[in-house]
Amino acid sequence: MTDTTDPSLRSFIEVPPNHDFPIQNLPYGVFSRPDEEKPRCGVRIGDFVLDLRVLEHADHFRDTPLGDDHVFCKQGLNKFMSKGAAIWHAVRDRVSSLLRVDNATLRDDESLRQRALVPAENVTMHLPAEIGDYTDFYSSKHHAFNVGTMFRGPENALMPNYLWIPVGYHGRASSVVLSGTEITRPCGQTKADDAEAPIFGPCRLLDFELEVGFFTGPGNTLGEPISMAQAADHIFGMVLVNDWSARDVQKWEYQPLGPFLAKNFATTISPWVVPMAALEPFRCAPPAQDPAPLAYLTQSGAGGAPGGWAYDIELEVAIRTPSSDAPHPVCRSNFKHMYWTMAQQLVHHSATGCNIRPGDLLASGTISGPTEESYGSMLELAWRGTKPIQFPTGEERKFIADNDTVLMRGWCEADGVRIGFGACDGTVQPARI
Ligand code: CA
Repeated sequence: MTDTTDPSLRSFIEVPPNHDFPIQNLPYGVFSRPDEEKPRCGVRIGDFVLDLRVLEHADHFRDTPLGDDHVFCKQGLNKFMSKGAAIWHAVRDRVSSLLRVDNATLRDDESLRQRALVPAENVTMHLPAEIGDYTDFYSSKHHAFNVGTMFRGPENALMPNYLWIPVGYHGRASSVVLSGTEITRPCGQTKADDAEAPIFGPCRLLDFELEVGFFTGPGNTLGEPISMAQAADHIFGMVLVNDWSARDVQKWEYQPLGPFLAKNFATTISPWVVPMAALEPFRCAPPAQDPAPLAYLTQSGAGGAPGGWAYDIELEVAIRTPSSDAPHPVCRSNFKHMYWTMAQQLVHHSATGCNIRPGDLLASGTISGPTEESYGSMLELAWRGTKPIQFPTGEERKFIADNDTVLMRGWCEADGVRIGFGACDGTVQPARI
C-alpha cells in the first residue's frame, strides 16, 4: 500500500492548484453520464469524473479484496459502504494508482480513458447513497451555549445533560437533497408571544445551519452496539450539510418532543463524499471534555486515531442576494471546534443496540466557533434579529429572504494540497400558499 495522501503524488490529469479535488482527495459520488442515463458510482478528480462502473466491468478491481463483486453499477454507494474499511482502502489505493502520472494502465489506454473519464460539467449528480436514516446532533458547545443564552440566559445556557450526552434527534431522510436543489420556504404554525392563538402561514424566520455529516459503513446488527474501538470501521466519509431550519415554527412546536416540521422540509448536502482516508492528515485533538465522558464514550486511543478524533476542516458560509452577483461571506468556522466527536456520536447512537445501516447520514449539528464571525447560523450571527448582517449592497438580513442563495464551502489545506468538499448551495423560493 502507498500513502494516497502524499503531497508529492501527481496525476496525468491536470488539476489546477488550489482545486478542491486533487489526486490526494478522490471523493466518491453517484452520477449519470450524457450517453447512459443509468446512475453509477464515480470518483472526482480535477474537472473529471472517473466512472468506477467502467473500471469494474474492465476487471480493474478483480485482484483487490473486492474481487468479482459488483458494487459500482448501483445508484448509491450503499453496497460499497457496507464492505468495510479494508475494501475501502484497497479500492482507494487502486484508484489512486490508476490515476498517477507514472502509471501507464489508464494513461496510455485511449479507449479505456475515453470511456472511464467524463468531464464533470457533462454529468448529472445524484444523492451519493440511498439514505435510510438521517440523524442530526447538537455537538457544538459554542452553538448550544449561544442558543441557550438567548432563551435562558448564560447561567442556564447548557442543559444539564449537555456535557454527558451527544444530544441528537432523528431527522427526515426523504428531504435530504443535493446542492443546487431549490428550497421552498415552508409553511407552518407559528405563534407570537402576545397572540392568543397560532396562525398557519409561511415561515418568517428561515435559517441555515452550517454542518458537516458522515455516511456510515457496514453498521451493526440490531441489539449489538458499536464500541469506540470499532467506530472508525463504520465511518465512510464526509459531506457538507445545510440543515435548513424554520426558527419560528420550531419555537412553537418543539416542546416536549423536540423539532418536527421546523427541520423536515429540506437538508442540503454536497454531492461528493470525501473519504476518511483523505482527511487522515487533518486529524487533531478534540477540545478537552470536562467532566470526563462515561466509559463507553471514552476516546483515548480509540479506533487507531493517533491524531485524535477531531478534524481541522475550514468552513465558510456566504449569502448571495438577488440584487448582487457576488456572494457575501457571513461566517468562517472550523469543524475542530466540536465538543462531541463523530465517533462519540456514532457510539452513543448505537448504545441501545439501535442498528446503523450502510449509507445512514449522521450530521454534526450547527458548527459554531468561539468568535462572533464563526457562528454557524443566522440566529446567532444576527443574534436573534438584534444585530442584522449588513451587505455591501446596503441590504441587511436577520434571516434568509426569498431568492437568497446560501453557499457553503469546506476544505482542509496543508503542504500545498487542498482537500475540498465542493459546493453545498441552495436558493430559497417563495412559499407555496
Ligand atoms: Ca441542525
